[in-house]
Amino acid sequence: QFSPSNASRHQFVGAKCSSHSDIFRSVSFSSHLPDFFLKSLENTKPLQTQRISVVVRPVSCYKQMEVDISLSPRVNSVKPSKTIAITDQARALVEAGVPVIGLSVGEPDFDTPAIIAEVICDHYAYAHDFRLGLMRIREGYTRYTPNAGTLELRKAICHKLKEENGISYTPDQVLVSNGAKQSVLQAMVAVCSPGDEVIIPAPYYVSYPEIARLADATPVILSTNITENFLLDPELLESKITNKSRVLMLCSPSNPTGSVYPRKLLEKIAQIVARHPQLLVLCDEVYEHIIYAPATHTSFASLPGMWERTLTVNGFSKTFAMTGWRLGYLAAPKHIVSACGKIQSQVTSGASSISQKAGVAALGMGYAGGETVSTMVKAFKERRDYLVESFGELEGVKMSEPQGAFYLFLDFSSYYGVEAEGFGMIKDSESLCRYLLEKAQVALVPGDAFGDDRCVRISYSTSLSTLQAAMDKIKKAVISLRPAVLV
Ligand code: PMP
Repeated sequence: QFSPSNASRHQFVGAKCSSHSDIFRSVSFSSHLPDFFLKSLENTKPLQTQRISVVVRPVSCYKQMEVDISLSPRVNSVKPSKTIAITDQARALVEAGVPVIGLSVGEPDFDTPAIIAEVICDHYAYAHDFRLGLMRIREGYTRYTPNAGTLELRKAICHKLKEENGISYTPDQVLVSNGAKQSVLQAMVAVCSPGDEVIIPAPYYVSYPEIARLADATPVILSTNITENFLLDPELLESKITNKSRVLMLCSPSNPTGSVYPRKLLEKIAQIVARHPQLLVLCDEVYEHIIYAPATHTSFASLPGMWERTLTVNGFSKTFAMTGWRLGYLAAPKHIVSACGKIQSQVTSGASSISQKAGVAALGMGYAGGETVSTMVKAFKERRDYLVESFGELEGVKMSEPQGAFYLFLDFSSYYGVEAEGFGMIKDSESLCRYLLEKAQVALVPGDAFGDDRCVRISYSTSLSTLQAAMDKIKKAVISLRPAVLV
């Protein structure tokens, strides 16, 4: 026994309590006694109710001590991505010889358009030629670019935002990053204080709540309904805003639902937001060009009075089939962009120089990516139409026809509670996906990963013939079930 008053923090290199091993596990390997341990000693009445044995190890024991394998509470609060988990599982099955059709991944099946890739091939070709390579190197294409992105690319982004989105930015209001996901993370970290709330309509892109947690903020999930096309109800939004609400997250066209926010609805949301000076709006517009008429995309920042409080995130992954190039950007008022730039300067020092060159070529393809992108969008639309019709024939499946992106979010909940022969009970989106993986050998993503357990997500970023093959298998597997409750 010892008195906390004379326990010096550095006097002990470790402590263990036999009866509270869990509590003290993290203490036993730490190099000094943390505050909570000293506090717990303060509350202990020596010789009365508890016995604490403290192991004091001489510094020479360091080498034999086990390594503390605990992780930070911040990372422990974050869930791994289910989309990635199911994709990995499907890949493992394929490697084991099972002919699984993967419809879980969120990336276009098209190659990066040649006009973009060739720009880079030219640069590589130059690099193989000593003299020209040297010249290119002098031009700086193989070096660090400015942290915020090359001026050439930021000017091209400003031009695009003006022409296509009706929003004016100067290059110092644009920050280029390694993908839109990084832009969302940096924006969240830059503006949120511990305890702030981030309002996220569900179904949501899997990363939003986790990014909010990484930014020490609290995700506040607002449910939407399939009958309302999964769009946020402005009245619900209004009722949930508190003085801690810092960010409203919007994603249109949406992953996972394909819903597109109509301008009128965005205007209603803007009126509500305008009444709360502390509330910013973070808009993820990565699918803006993968949109099916008559739906049209409206950038929230273009609405009257919203520019000052809107953080627009966009990227090259989806529109230009450039997922592997890792290129995205944030456009926002300068003080926010500078703050995000400060974070980025300490984390990545900016995006890849080669990818930025490709980004300039992509934006040079014309309005909304020109003919090349509209050909891809036409293919996505054909697949969407096929799936909407096919799933429409399945009893008990509810859907809202997607207006954009390349996902269908299907409500299969009428099948929950069904006992599948040789499988067991289908009780939620996770077990339904496992059932479909086993019986139909098709990989879909459970809706609970997106905050809606009634649904599953199917990605149609694969060829029509693959979708047809998948659909045949899904139908067979589902028809052998009967909805528990007929809808
Ligand atoms: N936002 C949404 C809504 C997405 O679906 C994705 C990719 N799945 C991203 C952001 C990430 O995009 P990037 O590849 O540019 O990081």
